[in-house]
Amino acid sequence: MTYSHPGGESRVRMQELLVATRNKKKLAEIRDLLKDLNVRITSLDDYPDMPAIEEDGDSFSANALKKAATIALYTGKLTLGEDSGLEVKALNNEPGIYSARYSGPDSNDEKNNAKLLRELREVPKFKRQARYVCSVALVDKNRIIDVVSGSCEGFIDLKKKGTHGFGYDPLFFIPRFQKTFGELPPELKAKISHRAKALRKFRKVLREYLDTDSF
Ligand code: IMP
Repeated sequence: MTYSHPGGESRVRMQELLVATRNKKKLAEIRDLLKDLNVRITSLDDYPDMPAIEEDGDSFSANALKKAATIALYTGKLTLGEDSGLEVKALNNEPGIYSARYSGPDSNDEKNNAKLLRELREVPKFKRQARYVCSVALVDKNRIIDVVSGSCEGFIDLKKKGTHGFGYDPLFFIPRFQKTFGELPPELKAKISHRAKALRKFRKVLREYLDTDSF
């Protein structure tokens, strides 16, 4: 997309995409997966005065939309909202949308992983099927543009392995590679993860928006 500035030259104008998160590891993955698109990615760290957003939707999509719509309304910026989590079959798909807060109000990755291992202590590995789910919404100041989702199948391991990634990654075992996301290189997670799958769909939505709607 080009425009003329007062000097008369034509310049490429780079659209801002505000990612409605403060999670640095998530943001790094999103930046990497969108790096070749013609957008300048910012995050809530660039907008410190934004309100806290209560994640009270009943699905990943509803929460992704709420994050994007709230921040787009406050800032007037094109905004990406993301919500993701882990569903464990033997736990009736818990922790699901409560993944970040699984071990209570003062939860962190360490406590969440410990709780997950406790809840599954009687369950053998072959019955520990799990999947990560990620929903990503795009909203501008006038309207909801789209919401897309992706998932990634695996098992919950018997103990934590590896130091890559974040959240439940040291426990999330991928049968095809016989390793957890904590052990696999980030470049591989960036190809096969729930976030990668959702963002591959999101890239098409964003490209179409940038080509038709944005100026
Ligand atoms: P959100 O920030 O409310 O979307 O919370 C997502 C939570 O789900 C994180 O805090 C993690 O516990 C979990 N989660 C989502 N995606 C991943 C991932 O890629 N790796 C590990 N944990 C994840």
